[in-house]
Amino acid sequence: MTGWSSTLEPCSKSAKIPIPDIIKAMGSLHAFQTDDLRLKPIYEKVLVGERMDAADALTLYCTGDILAVGWMANSVRERMHGDKTYFNVNRHINPTNVCVAACRLCAFGRKKDVAGAYTMALEEAFETAASGYSEAVTEFHIVGGLHPDLPFQYFLDLCSGLKQRFPQVHLKAFTMVEVAYLARRAKLSIRETLEQLKASGVDSLPGGGAEIFADRVRHIICDHKIDGDQWLETAKLAHQIGLKSNATMLYGHVENDEDRVDHLMKLRALQDETGGFQTFIPLAFHPDNTALQHLPKTTGMLDIKQIAVSRLVLDNFPHVKSYWQMMTAKIAQISLRFGADDMDGTVIEEKIYHDAGATTPQGMRREELERLIRAAGRVPIERDTLYRPVTRTETSVTVAV
Ligand code: SF4
Repeated sequence: MTGWSSTLEPCSKSAKIPIPDIIKAMGSLHAFQTDDLRLKPIYEKVLVGERMDAADALTLYCTGDILAVGWMANSVRERMHGDKTYFNVNRHINPTNVCVAACRLCAFGRKKDVAGAYTMALEEAFETAASGYSEAVTEFHIVGGLHPDLPFQYFLDLCSGLKQRFPQVHLKAFTMVEVAYLARRAKLSIRETLEQLKASGVDSLPGGGAEIFADRVRHIICDHKIDGDQWLETAKLAHQIGLKSNATMLYGHVENDEDRVDHLMKLRALQDETGGFQTFIPLAFHPDNTALQHLPKTTGMLDIKQIAVSRLVLDNFPHVKSYWQMMTAKIAQISLRFGADDMDGTVIEEKIYHDAGATTPQGMRREELERLIRAAGRVPIERDTLYRPVTRTETSVTVAV
């Protein structure tokens, strides 16, 4: 982390541990320092790439030394990605906000007959996709409510219709919660449901709906959803049939540090098993217009710390994303020095978090996103959903394979 004093020595024990060249080089540029003695054993683990345990993760949440935590997360981030910072050009499609669940965390879902409820006819969904479409779009991000009447076939037709019209666009569609609900409605197993979605054109899953796995918290914020184990089981099945996914965590509501640690540990354990997660996305809770609107918004300190702890604990996740739509572009930019290597995309029209009071713009121009990344001393890399670099010229778009 540039700007740190280089006069302090690393903690004494670290001298006994063989230090990889890349870390030596980094150490000579940026010295680690902390007054929190609990962080020193963690620093030693970071130096040698040793895995954090749950107690370490809890210490990282508890400490007030955000710069020391950030130093460690940044060193891991640079070891993995150097200065590369990824973004993509995507378009969100939310086919319906009608939802049978009534999660207290949610400002998006509506019962079907109330004002503001909507469901797109298939043609309307295709028009929505086309209206924000340009050759630049490489991904459709598709999530919505749990509609009580829409048949499974609607979702299959939605995906196959989008694939037919936009064959080169990656479909990142449906949370584990939606998949489980569609399976129930269609009276299919989760695996069969995923297989049919894949056959209709779904290329990967976005990883939402994970919230916080702990039952105590889930009962308060989203007790109509599948539980944490079912979310993980659905993700596992998706990975087993070759669908990559992301994983999210909604933080900053009624959960505590132990709940966050538990969430990260469960994701890491599943990733050890399947290797199917691409990116971890911590989502800052936005309370406006939800049943939890008495809660305060997350602070910048918590947002930054969440990114850093995620990077340190989830050693088997290739990417950690700072989702600028939820944590603001400025915090997301700073987080590129605290462990994040991805800033999401130049989203066109996002509904879910804006219904919950997000005051960020609904989209960001590519030039602005690149400017923010460069100003953080990083190198912007446009990627597709699978993190293959996208190269553009005046007349063509190429995805490296
Ligand atoms: S969070 Fe999802 S499942 Fe819960 S009410 Fe909102 S749209 Fe429905």
